[in-house]
Amino acid sequence: MTLFGQYVIHLYMSDHKFFPLSGREMPRFGGIKTFFRLPVANLSEDFDVAIFGVPFDGAVSYRPGARFAPSKIRETSSLGRGYHFSRNLSVFDALKVADIGDCSVVPMSVEKTYELIEKFSTKVLESKKKYISAGGDHSTTLAHLRSVKAKAGKPLSLVHFDAHLDTYPAAWGCEYHHGAFVRHAINEGLIDPKSSVQIGIRGPLAGDSDVNFNKEHSLRYCTMDEIRGATSLASFCASLPAYEKDQPVFLSYDIDCLDPSCAPGTGTPVPGGLTTYESQKILQSLKIENLVAADIVEVSPPYDQSDITALAAVDVMFEILCLMRKNI
Ligand code: MN
Ligand code: MN
Repeated sequence: MTLFGQYVIHLYMSDHKFFPLSGREMPRFGGIKTFFRLPVANLSEDFDVAIFGVPFDGAVSYRPGARFAPSKIRETSSLGRGYHFSRNLSVFDALKVADIGDCSVVPMSVEKTYELIEKFSTKVLESKKKYISAGGDHSTTLAHLRSVKAKAGKPLSLVHFDAHLDTYPAAWGCEYHHGAFVRHAINEGLIDPKSSVQIGIRGPLAGDSDVNFNKEHSLRYCTMDEIRGATSLASFCASLPAYEKDQPVFLSYDIDCLDPSCAPGTGTPVPGGLTTYESQKILQSLKIENLVAADIVEVSPPYDQSDITALAAVDVMFEILCLMRKNI
């Protein structure tokens, strides 16, 4: 059988159109760039997970560039495949996924951008779809949490990968910057801190009082010392909470949880982070029955080298799709 013949048979066996364009039909460097080479669709169509971009970096404190992440992640995701070797799962065979384009933003206004994200993500949720957002800087997550919490009707559990706590106070008189979304989410009652967890946290901090907010709200933060100091990575993973069907979860993945050697293209890199492999294993170990939505943020293509960071983001997106597959 020719390679092309195999592709045609595969398409024939699949009962939906939401399937990536095969690299055997069109080489992976060709074609119009969409997330995972998936079809572009509108929300009235019947599919399970929408992927969209939020090209906003108006709230960063150091390096800009995350506004270019959605385009770069789309381009890099051409290398994505559908079969997960470790999970023995062909995710696109059973899960219908589409690229729905980008949420519009106002480049110089966080507040106006929040309104646009809330409106956009609410429409996605009202069409009974889960979603993955490719940010954007980490300020954008607050807007997602507002709409997902409103739809869920109860505070969410947040699974948060980051080098930073993101509970920091206002900066230059601005409340809504990329290091403050967790503080606002707790103060607004969007997340339940006691069932949430932060993974990959490390210094340096401005001072030891930076963790006071976490302590006051019983929000667990797993430092790199805790992760590397565990008997094994598996034993650390086993210590993470498991979430039942009745608990809606939002997963927010700040790419700077990875070590700068694995993700140099980011706004505020911090040495001593997770390797891409450790991050994969932690994501694969998560027990989440109701992952409603997720985002991947802080990828800054202008500071990247050979697309390492964008490729890591694509890999995280694939793991998240696999987590969502379990819930459909
Ligand atoms: Mn962050
Ligand atoms: Mn961070």
